Amino acid sequence: MNFSGSPIEIQQEVADIQQNSRLTGDPFVDAGITAIELVTGKLWCEITEPEFKKAANDLVTLYLTPAWSKDLISIFPNSTYIQTARNYNKKEKSCEFLFDLIEGLGISQKHSNNCIFCGAKAFNRKDNSAFVKTQIPLVGSSSFTNFFPSFQNGISICARCALAFQFAPLVSYRAGGKPCVISCNNPEILKELGREALHYINEQRVLGVYQSKEISGIYDEKFRSPQNALFHLAYKITRSYRNKGIAGENEEITIYHVDNYNQNPKGVSIYNLPNSVFRFVALVMSSPEYRESWFRLLARHYTKFKKESDDLPFWKASLNLIHNQLLNNQSILWAFRDDETRTLTIPFVVIERYMGLVRGMNKQRIEKIKNLADRIAECIEKSGDKKRVMALQSAKDLVSFRNQLRLILRDWQKQGQSGPLTSFDDYIEVVIPGDYTGWTEVRDLIVIRLYEKLHHMLARESASDEQDETKEGDDT
Ligand SMILES: [Zn+2]
Repeated sequence: MNFSGSPIEIQQEVADIQQNSRLTGDPFVDAGITAIELVTGKLWCEITEPEFKKAANDLVTLYLTPAWSKDLISIFPNSTYIQTARNYNKKEKSCEFLFDLIEGLGISQKHSNNCIFCGAKAFNRKDNSAFVKTQIPLVGSSSFTNFFPSFQNGISICARCALAFQFAPLVSYRAGGKPCVISCNNPEILKELGREALHYINEQRVLGVYQSKEISGIYDEKFRSPQNALFHLAYKITRSYRNKGIAGENEEITIYHVDNYNQNPKGVSIYNLPNSVFRFVALVMSSPEYRESWFRLLARHYTKFKKESDDLPFWKASLNLIHNQLLNNQSILWAFRDDETRTLTIPFVVIERYMGLVRGMNKQRIEKIKNLADRIAECIEKSGDKKRVMALQSAKDLVSFRNQLRLILRDWQKQGQSGPLTSFDDYIEVVIPGDYTGWTEVRDLIVIRLYEKLHHMLARESASDEQDETKEGDDT
Protein backbone atom coordinates (compact mmCIF):
# COMPACT_ATOMS: atom_id res chain seq x y z
CA MET A 1 0.00 0.00 0.00
CA ASN A 2 1.38 3.40 -0.96
CA PHE A 3 0.69 6.50 1.03
CA SER A 4 1.74 9.96 0.04
CA GLY A 5 1.43 13.23 1.93
CA SER A 6 2.12 14.60 5.39
CA PRO A 7 1.97 12.32 8.48
CA ILE A 8 -1.43 13.80 9.38
CA GLU A 9 -2.77 13.10 5.87
CA ILE A 10 -1.39 9.55 6.03
CA GLN A 11 -3.01 9.03 9.42
CA GLN A 12 -6.30 10.26 7.98
CA GLU A 13 -5.91 7.96 4.94
CA VAL A 14 -5.28 4.94 7.19
CA ALA A 15 -8.29 5.88 9.34
CA ASP A 16 -10.49 6.17 6.21
CA ILE A 17 -9.39 2.74 4.98
CA GLN A 18 -10.00 1.18 8.42
CA GLN A 19 -13.34 2.90 8.54
CA ASN A 20 -14.52 1.71 5.13
CA SER A 21 -12.88 -1.72 4.87
CA ARG A 22 -15.05 -3.01 7.72
CA LEU A 23 -18.14 -2.58 5.51
CA THR A 24 -19.16 -5.27 3.04
CA GLY A 25 -21.60 -3.56 0.68
CA ASP A 26 -24.45 -5.73 1.94
CA PRO A 27 -27.11 -3.39 3.38
CA PHE A 28 -28.00 -5.66 6.35
CA VAL A 29 -24.41 -6.37 7.36
CA ASP A 30 -23.36 -2.73 6.99
CA ALA A 31 -26.40 -1.57 8.97
CA GLY A 32 -25.54 -4.06 11.73
CA ILE A 33 -21.88 -3.03 11.87
CA THR A 34 -22.95 0.63 12.04
CA ALA A 35 -25.40 -0.22 14.86
CA ILE A 36 -22.81 -2.09 16.96
CA GLU A 37 -20.26 0.70 16.50
CA LEU A 38 -22.83 3.30 17.55
CA VAL A 39 -23.98 1.46 20.68
CA THR A 40 -20.42 0.74 21.80
CA GLY A 41 -19.08 4.12 20.67
CA LYS A 42 -16.07 2.39 19.08
CA LEU A 43 -14.84 1.19 15.69
CA TRP A 44 -15.44 -2.54 15.14
CA CYS A 45 -11.73 -3.41 15.42
CA GLU A 46 -11.47 -1.64 18.81
CA ILE A 47 -14.44 -3.36 20.50
CA THR A 48 -13.46 -5.90 23.18
CA GLU A 49 -15.25 -9.21 23.82
CA PRO A 50 -16.88 -8.00 27.11
CA GLU A 51 -18.11 -4.89 25.26
CA PHE A 52 -19.61 -7.03 22.48
CA LYS A 53 -21.29 -9.21 25.11
CA LYS A 54 -22.72 -6.22 26.97
CA ALA A 55 -24.14 -4.84 23.69
CA ALA A 56 -25.63 -8.28 22.91
CA ASN A 57 -27.17 -8.52 26.37
CA ASP A 58 -28.77 -5.06 26.03
CA LEU A 59 -29.98 -6.01 22.56
CA VAL A 60 -31.77 -9.11 23.84
CA THR A 61 -33.43 -7.14 26.66
CA LEU A 62 -34.76 -4.71 24.05
CA TYR A 63 -35.82 -7.45 21.60
CA LEU A 64 -37.88 -9.21 24.29
CA THR A 65 -40.16 -6.18 24.82
CA PRO A 66 -43.66 -6.58 23.30
CA ALA A 67 -43.15 -3.71 20.82
CA TRP A 68 -39.95 -5.25 19.42
CA SER A 69 -41.28 -8.84 19.43
CA LYS A 70 -44.03 -7.76 17.06
CA ASP A 71 -41.51 -6.20 14.62
CA LEU A 72 -39.11 -9.15 14.79
CA ILE A 73 -41.74 -11.60 13.52
CA SER A 74 -41.19 -10.25 10.02
CA ILE A 75 -37.39 -10.06 10.40
CA PHE A 76 -36.32 -13.16 12.38
CA PRO A 77 -39.36 -15.50 12.30
CA ASN A 78 -39.21 -18.44 14.73
CA SER A 79 -36.04 -17.07 16.28
CA THR A 80 -35.01 -17.34 19.94
CA TYR A 81 -36.13 -13.70 20.42
CA ILE A 82 -39.80 -14.47 19.77
CA GLN A 83 -40.37 -18.11 20.74
CA THR A 84 -43.77 -18.60 22.33
CA ALA A 85 -43.30 -22.16 23.65
CA ARG A 86 -43.94 -22.54 27.37
CA ASN A 87 -40.93 -22.64 29.69
CA TYR A 88 -38.68 -21.48 26.83
CA ASN A 89 -36.01 -19.16 28.23
CA LYS A 90 -35.81 -16.58 25.44
CA LYS A 91 -33.25 -14.43 27.22
CA GLU A 92 -30.86 -17.31 27.90
CA LYS A 93 -31.21 -18.93 24.46
CA SER A 94 -30.79 -15.60 22.63
CA CYS A 95 -27.69 -14.65 24.63
CA GLU A 96 -26.27 -18.13 24.08
CA PHE A 97 -26.67 -17.73 20.31
CA LEU A 98 -25.12 -14.23 20.27
CA PHE A 99 -22.26 -15.15 22.65
CA ASP A 100 -21.40 -18.14 20.44
CA LEU A 101 -21.00 -15.71 17.50
CA ILE A 102 -18.98 -13.23 19.59
CA GLU A 103 -16.62 -15.97 20.79
CA GLY A 104 -16.13 -16.97 17.14
CA LEU A 105 -14.99 -13.47 16.08
CA GLY A 106 -11.42 -13.38 14.84
CA ILE A 107 -10.88 -17.11 15.45
CA SER A 108 -9.73 -18.94 12.33
CA GLN A 109 -12.43 -21.35 11.26
CA LYS A 110 -11.99 -24.82 9.79
CA HIS A 111 -15.12 -24.48 7.65
CA SER A 112 -14.65 -25.49 4.01
CA ASN A 113 -16.90 -22.67 2.73
CA ASN A 114 -16.52 -18.91 2.74
CA CYS A 115 -18.93 -16.26 3.99
CA ILE A 116 -21.19 -15.21 1.11
CA PHE A 117 -21.21 -11.60 2.38
CA CYS A 118 -17.52 -10.85 2.97
CA GLY A 119 -15.48 -13.84 1.80
CA ALA A 120 -13.99 -14.75 5.22
CA LYS A 121 -14.10 -18.38 6.41
CA ALA A 122 -17.65 -19.41 7.30
CA PHE A 123 -18.56 -19.99 10.94
CA ASN A 124 -19.55 -23.32 12.53
CA ARG A 125 -22.05 -22.87 15.34
CA LYS A 126 -21.41 -24.70 18.62
CA ASP A 127 -24.39 -26.97 18.04
CA ASN A 128 -23.50 -27.33 14.31
CA SER A 129 -26.93 -26.07 13.25
CA ALA A 130 -27.27 -24.23 9.95
CA PHE A 131 -27.91 -20.51 9.41
CA VAL A 132 -31.39 -20.15 7.88
CA LYS A 133 -34.03 -17.42 7.52
CA THR A 134 -34.62 -17.54 11.27
CA GLN A 135 -31.24 -15.88 11.86
CA ILE A 136 -30.49 -14.35 8.44
CA PRO A 137 -33.52 -12.67 6.82
CA LEU A 138 -34.57 -13.47 3.26
CA VAL A 139 -32.66 -16.73 2.87
CA GLY A 140 -34.34 -20.17 2.80
CA SER A 141 -35.38 -22.42 5.63
CA SER A 142 -33.29 -25.52 6.33
CA SER A 143 -35.60 -28.24 5.09
CA PHE A 144 -35.75 -26.72 1.59
CA THR A 145 -32.24 -26.96 0.20
CA ASN A 146 -33.43 -25.74 -3.21
CA PHE A 147 -33.70 -22.23 -1.72
CA PHE A 148 -29.95 -22.11 -1.11
CA PRO A 149 -26.99 -21.82 -3.46
CA SER A 150 -25.59 -25.28 -4.37
CA PHE A 151 -28.42 -27.06 -2.53
CA GLN A 152 -26.68 -26.58 0.80
CA ASN A 153 -28.42 -26.84 4.08
CA GLY A 154 -28.37 -23.20 5.23
CA ILE A 155 -26.01 -20.46 4.09
CA SER A 156 -22.30 -19.98 4.69
CA ILE A 157 -21.69 -16.91 6.79
CA CYS A 158 -18.91 -15.76 9.09
CA ALA A 159 -19.44 -14.92 12.78
CA ARG A 160 -18.98 -11.19 12.19
CA CYS A 161 -21.61 -10.92 9.43
CA ALA A 162 -24.06 -13.17 11.33
CA LEU A 163 -23.64 -11.01 14.45
CA ALA A 164 -24.09 -7.81 12.41
CA PHE A 165 -27.38 -9.15 11.02
CA GLN A 166 -28.76 -9.43 14.56
CA PHE A 167 -28.09 -5.74 15.27
CA ALA A 168 -29.33 -4.38 11.91
CA PRO A 169 -32.94 -3.74 13.10
CA LEU A 170 -31.60 -1.20 15.64
CA VAL A 171 -30.79 1.27 12.85
CA SER A 172 -33.64 0.28 10.53
CA TYR A 173 -36.59 2.46 9.66
CA ARG A 174 -40.24 1.56 9.58
CA ALA A 175 -42.29 2.50 6.49
CA GLY A 176 -45.27 0.96 4.77
CA GLY A 177 -45.93 -1.11 7.91
CA LYS A 178 -42.67 -3.08 7.59
CA PRO A 179 -39.04 -2.74 8.62
CA CYS A 180 -36.83 -1.10 6.02
CA VAL A 181 -33.07 -1.35 5.82
CA ILE A 182 -31.51 1.80 4.46
CA SER A 183 -28.46 1.73 2.27
CA CYS A 184 -26.36 4.70 1.14
CA ASN A 185 -22.99 4.96 -0.59
CA ASN A 186 -21.93 7.49 2.08
CA PRO A 187 -21.30 5.63 5.40
CA GLU A 188 -21.46 8.92 7.34
CA ILE A 189 -25.10 9.33 6.33
CA LEU A 190 -25.89 5.80 7.53
CA LYS A 191 -24.23 6.65 10.82
CA GLU A 192 -26.24 9.85 11.24
CA LEU A 193 -29.51 8.04 10.41
CA GLY A 194 -28.44 5.32 12.88
CA ARG A 195 -27.93 7.96 15.59
CA GLU A 196 -31.45 9.24 14.99
CA ALA A 197 -32.85 5.71 15.20
CA LEU A 198 -31.02 5.03 18.49
CA HIS A 199 -32.20 8.36 19.87
CA TYR A 200 -35.80 7.33 19.04
CA ILE A 201 -35.27 3.92 20.70
CA ASN A 202 -33.82 5.45 23.87
CA GLU A 203 -36.67 7.92 24.07
CA GLN A 204 -39.30 5.17 23.76
CA ARG A 205 -37.45 3.10 26.33
CA VAL A 206 -37.36 5.94 28.83
CA LEU A 207 -41.05 6.58 28.29
CA GLY A 208 -41.71 2.89 28.94
CA VAL A 209 -43.90 2.54 25.84
CA TYR A 210 -42.17 -0.58 24.52
CA GLN A 211 -44.38 -2.61 26.87
CA SER A 212 -47.19 -2.03 24.37
CA LYS A 213 -47.60 -3.94 21.11
CA GLU A 214 -49.35 -0.91 19.62
CA ILE A 215 -46.10 0.94 19.06
CA SER A 216 -43.26 0.09 16.69
CA GLY A 217 -39.92 -0.88 18.22
CA ILE A 218 -38.14 0.16 15.05
CA TYR A 219 -37.60 3.88 14.35
CA ASP A 220 -40.93 5.03 12.96
CA GLU A 221 -41.84 8.41 11.51
CA LYS A 222 -45.17 6.89 10.45
CA PHE A 223 -44.86 6.93 6.67
CA ARG A 224 -47.40 4.67 5.03
CA SER A 225 -45.56 4.63 1.72
CA PRO A 226 -41.90 3.65 1.38
CA GLN A 227 -41.66 6.01 -1.62
CA ASN A 228 -42.59 9.06 0.48
CA ALA A 229 -40.30 7.81 3.26
CA LEU A 230 -37.40 7.63 0.81
CA PHE A 231 -37.98 11.22 -0.34
CA HIS A 232 -38.44 12.36 3.25
CA LEU A 233 -34.98 10.95 4.01
CA ALA A 234 -33.57 12.66 0.91
CA TYR A 235 -35.09 16.02 1.99
CA LYS A 236 -33.65 15.55 5.47
CA ILE A 237 -30.20 14.56 4.19
CA THR A 238 -29.95 17.36 1.63
CA ARG A 239 -31.07 19.97 4.18
CA SER A 240 -29.82 19.29 7.68
CA TYR A 241 -27.09 16.71 6.96
CA ARG A 242 -25.59 19.00 4.36
CA ASN A 243 -25.50 21.84 6.83
CA LYS A 244 -23.61 19.54 9.21
CA GLY A 245 -21.13 18.81 6.40
CA ILE A 246 -22.07 15.11 6.23
CA ALA A 247 -23.71 14.87 2.80
CA GLY A 248 -22.06 15.74 -0.49
CA GLU A 249 -23.17 15.60 -4.13
CA ASN A 250 -22.74 11.99 -5.10
CA GLU A 251 -25.07 10.14 -2.77
CA GLU A 252 -27.82 7.76 -3.64
CA ILE A 253 -30.15 6.07 -1.18
CA THR A 254 -31.98 2.75 -1.29
CA ILE A 255 -34.70 1.40 0.97
CA TYR A 256 -35.08 -2.38 1.29
CA HIS A 257 -38.63 -2.96 2.46
CA VAL A 258 -38.45 -6.35 4.17
CA ASP A 259 -41.13 -8.96 4.69
CA ASN A 260 -39.51 -12.14 5.98
CA TYR A 261 -42.67 -13.35 7.68
CA ASN A 262 -43.10 -17.14 7.74
CA GLN A 263 -46.42 -17.33 5.93
CA ASN A 264 -46.51 -15.91 2.36
CA PRO A 265 -43.70 -13.42 2.82
CA LYS A 266 -43.54 -10.79 0.09
CA GLY A 267 -39.75 -10.87 0.34
CA VAL A 268 -37.98 -7.62 -0.33
CA SER A 269 -39.14 -4.58 -2.30
CA ILE A 270 -36.39 -2.20 -3.34
CA TYR A 271 -36.88 1.58 -3.68
CA ASN A 272 -33.87 3.37 -5.09
CA LEU A 273 -33.34 7.11 -5.29
CA PRO A 274 -30.59 7.44 -7.91
CA ASN A 275 -27.90 10.09 -7.72
CA SER A 276 -29.52 12.10 -10.54
CA VAL A 277 -32.71 12.53 -8.48
CA PHE A 278 -30.71 13.05 -5.26
CA ARG A 279 -28.86 15.96 -6.88
CA PHE A 280 -32.13 17.44 -8.07
CA VAL A 281 -33.58 17.11 -4.55
CA ALA A 282 -30.46 18.83 -3.21
CA LEU A 283 -31.04 21.69 -5.66
CA VAL A 284 -34.70 22.24 -4.70
CA MET A 285 -33.77 22.12 -1.01
CA SER A 286 -30.94 24.64 -1.49
CA SER A 287 -33.06 27.81 -1.31
CA PRO A 288 -36.18 28.79 0.66
CA GLU A 289 -37.85 29.97 -2.57
CA TYR A 290 -37.28 26.67 -4.43
CA ARG A 291 -38.24 24.67 -1.36
CA GLU A 292 -41.52 26.48 -0.90
CA SER A 293 -42.48 26.06 -4.58
CA TRP A 294 -41.49 22.38 -4.48
CA PHE A 295 -43.58 21.50 -1.41
CA ARG A 296 -46.51 23.51 -2.79
CA LEU A 297 -46.20 21.55 -6.05
CA LEU A 298 -46.06 18.21 -4.19
CA ALA A 299 -49.14 19.13 -2.16
CA ARG A 300 -51.18 19.25 -5.38
CA HIS A 301 -50.36 15.67 -6.30
CA TYR A 302 -51.13 13.47 -3.30
CA THR A 303 -53.70 10.77 -4.00
CA LYS A 304 -57.04 11.17 -2.28
CA PHE A 305 -56.76 11.39 1.45
CA LYS A 306 -58.33 8.35 3.10
CA LYS A 307 -60.72 8.84 5.99
CA GLU A 308 -59.10 6.23 8.21
CA SER A 309 -55.77 8.09 7.99
CA ASP A 310 -57.16 11.15 9.77
CA ASP A 311 -54.58 10.85 12.52
CA LEU A 312 -51.76 11.23 10.01
CA PRO A 313 -50.93 14.22 7.82
CA PHE A 314 -51.66 13.59 4.12
CA TRP A 315 -47.96 13.69 3.20
CA LYS A 316 -47.39 10.64 5.39
CA ALA A 317 -50.59 8.79 4.59
CA SER A 318 -51.08 9.20 0.83
CA LEU A 319 -49.06 8.31 -2.23
CA ASN A 320 -47.57 11.13 -4.25
CA LEU A 321 -47.62 11.04 -8.03
CA ILE A 322 -44.52 13.23 -8.40
CA HIS A 323 -42.46 11.04 -6.06
CA ASN A 324 -43.60 7.89 -7.85
CA GLN A 325 -42.85 9.23 -11.32
CA LEU A 326 -39.40 10.40 -10.25
CA LEU A 327 -38.64 6.92 -8.89
CA ASN A 328 -40.03 5.25 -12.03
CA ASN A 329 -37.90 7.40 -14.32
CA GLN A 330 -40.96 9.11 -15.83
CA SER A 331 -40.96 12.78 -16.76
CA ILE A 332 -42.55 15.26 -14.33
CA LEU A 333 -42.09 18.22 -16.66
CA TRP A 334 -45.88 18.42 -17.07
CA ALA A 335 -46.19 19.31 -13.38
CA PHE A 336 -44.05 22.44 -13.73
CA ARG A 337 -46.79 24.33 -15.59
CA ASP A 338 -50.21 25.37 -14.41
CA ASP A 339 -52.49 25.62 -17.45
CA GLU A 340 -55.28 27.27 -15.49
CA THR A 341 -53.32 30.28 -14.35
CA ARG A 342 -50.79 29.96 -17.19
CA THR A 343 -47.91 30.22 -14.80
CA LEU A 344 -44.92 28.14 -13.74
CA THR A 345 -45.13 26.08 -10.56
CA ILE A 346 -41.38 26.36 -9.92
CA PRO A 347 -38.71 28.83 -11.15
CA PHE A 348 -37.49 28.19 -14.70
CA VAL A 349 -33.89 27.75 -13.59
CA VAL A 350 -34.97 24.69 -11.53
CA ILE A 351 -36.75 23.27 -14.57
CA GLU A 352 -33.61 23.69 -16.68
CA ARG A 353 -31.56 21.85 -14.06
CA TYR A 354 -34.22 19.13 -13.83
CA MET A 355 -33.98 18.51 -17.59
CA GLY A 356 -30.20 18.26 -17.36
CA LEU A 357 -29.81 16.29 -14.11
CA VAL A 358 -32.78 13.94 -14.19
CA ARG A 359 -33.81 13.72 -17.84
CA GLY A 360 -30.25 13.74 -19.16
CA MET A 361 -30.91 16.45 -21.77
CA ASN A 362 -27.64 18.13 -22.70
CA LYS A 363 -27.10 21.81 -21.91
CA GLN A 364 -26.76 22.80 -25.56
CA ARG A 365 -30.13 21.29 -26.47
CA ILE A 366 -31.86 22.92 -23.49
CA GLU A 367 -30.33 26.25 -24.50
CA LYS A 368 -31.49 25.90 -28.11
CA ILE A 369 -35.06 24.97 -27.14
CA LYS A 370 -35.10 27.92 -24.72
CA ASN A 371 -33.87 30.29 -27.44
CA LEU A 372 -36.51 29.02 -29.84
CA ALA A 373 -39.21 29.55 -27.17
CA ASP A 374 -37.89 33.08 -26.57
CA ARG A 375 -38.23 33.89 -30.29
CA ILE A 376 -41.74 32.38 -30.36
CA ALA A 377 -42.58 34.62 -27.38
CA GLU A 378 -41.24 37.64 -29.29
CA CYS A 379 -43.37 36.71 -32.31
CA ILE A 380 -46.55 36.24 -30.24
CA GLU A 381 -45.97 39.47 -28.34
CA LYS A 382 -45.69 41.32 -31.65
CA SER A 383 -48.74 39.69 -33.25
CA GLY A 384 -50.77 39.71 -30.03
CA ASP A 385 -52.10 36.27 -31.02
CA LYS A 386 -52.17 34.61 -27.62
CA LYS A 387 -54.16 31.66 -28.94
CA ARG A 388 -50.93 30.28 -30.43
CA VAL A 389 -49.73 29.46 -26.89
CA MET A 390 -52.91 27.53 -26.10
CA ALA A 391 -52.73 25.71 -29.45
CA LEU A 392 -49.13 24.63 -28.70
CA GLN A 393 -50.04 23.61 -25.17
CA SER A 394 -52.95 21.47 -26.32
CA ALA A 395 -51.11 19.75 -29.22
CA LYS A 396 -51.86 16.11 -28.47
CA ASP A 397 -49.72 14.50 -31.17
CA LEU A 398 -46.53 15.21 -33.04
CA VAL A 399 -48.38 16.17 -36.26
CA SER A 400 -50.41 18.92 -34.58
CA PHE A 401 -47.36 20.11 -32.64
CA ARG A 402 -45.35 20.40 -35.87
CA ASN A 403 -48.28 22.14 -37.52
CA GLN A 404 -48.41 24.74 -34.73
CA LEU A 405 -44.68 25.38 -35.12
CA ARG A 406 -45.23 25.81 -38.87
CA LEU A 407 -47.96 28.43 -38.24
CA ILE A 408 -45.69 30.35 -35.89
CA LEU A 409 -42.92 30.14 -38.50
CA ARG A 410 -45.33 31.73 -41.00
CA ASP A 411 -46.20 34.54 -38.54
CA TRP A 412 -42.50 35.10 -37.97
CA GLN A 413 -41.87 35.46 -41.71
CA LYS A 414 -44.88 37.75 -42.16
CA GLN A 415 -43.53 40.02 -39.44
CA GLY A 416 -40.31 40.32 -41.48
CA GLN A 417 -38.21 39.41 -38.42
CA SER A 418 -34.47 39.38 -38.92
CA GLY A 419 -32.96 35.90 -39.01
CA PRO A 420 -34.82 32.58 -39.02
CA LEU A 421 -37.07 31.41 -36.17
CA THR A 422 -34.98 28.25 -36.09
CA SER A 423 -32.35 26.84 -38.40
CA PHE A 424 -33.13 23.70 -40.38
CA ASP A 425 -30.41 21.77 -38.53
CA ASP A 426 -31.71 22.80 -35.11
CA TYR A 427 -35.24 21.93 -36.08
CA ILE A 428 -34.21 18.44 -37.18
CA GLU A 429 -31.69 17.63 -34.47
CA VAL A 430 -32.78 19.63 -31.47
CA VAL A 431 -36.50 20.29 -31.66
CA ILE A 432 -37.75 17.18 -33.41
CA PRO A 433 -34.91 14.64 -33.38
CA GLY A 434 -34.83 11.75 -35.87
CA ASP A 435 -36.54 9.19 -33.67
CA TYR A 436 -39.13 11.73 -32.40
CA THR A 437 -38.58 10.58 -28.84
CA GLY A 438 -39.30 13.10 -26.16
CA TRP A 439 -41.24 15.53 -28.41
CA THR A 440 -43.76 16.02 -25.57
CA GLU A 441 -40.92 17.23 -23.35
CA VAL A 442 -39.89 19.70 -26.08
CA ARG A 443 -43.49 20.93 -26.27
CA ASP A 444 -43.76 21.23 -22.48
CA LEU A 445 -40.45 23.05 -22.20
CA ILE A 446 -41.51 25.55 -24.90
CA VAL A 447 -44.93 26.11 -23.29
CA ILE A 448 -43.36 26.55 -19.84
CA ARG A 449 -40.94 29.12 -21.21
CA LEU A 450 -43.83 30.92 -22.98
CA TYR A 451 -45.81 31.05 -19.73
CA GLU A 452 -42.81 32.66 -18.11
CA LYS A 453 -41.99 35.11 -20.90
CA LEU A 454 -45.56 36.10 -21.74
CA HIS A 455 -46.91 36.02 -18.22
CA HIS A 456 -48.09 39.68 -18.36
CA MET A 457 -50.11 39.03 -21.58
CA LEU A 458 -51.45 35.59 -20.59
CA ALA A 459 -52.43 36.64 -17.08
CA ARG A 460 -54.45 39.53 -18.55
CA GLU A 461 -56.13 37.09 -20.92
CA SER A 462 -56.85 34.73 -18.06
CA ALA A 463 -58.50 37.59 -16.15
CA SER A 464 -60.56 38.72 -19.18
CA ASP A 465 -61.61 35.09 -19.82
CA GLU A 466 -62.95 35.00 -16.30
CA GLN A 467 -64.77 38.27 -16.88
CA ASP A 468 -66.28 36.88 -20.10
CA GLU A 469 -67.41 33.79 -18.19
CA THR A 470 -69.06 35.99 -15.53
CA LYS A 471 -70.76 38.01 -18.23
CA GLU A 472 -72.01 34.84 -19.86
CA GLY A 473 -73.25 33.74 -16.46
CA ASP A 474 -75.05 37.07 -16.04
CA ASP A 475 -76.72 36.81 -19.44
CA THR A 476 -78.31 33.45 -18.79
ZN1 LIG B 1 -18.76 -12.35 6.59
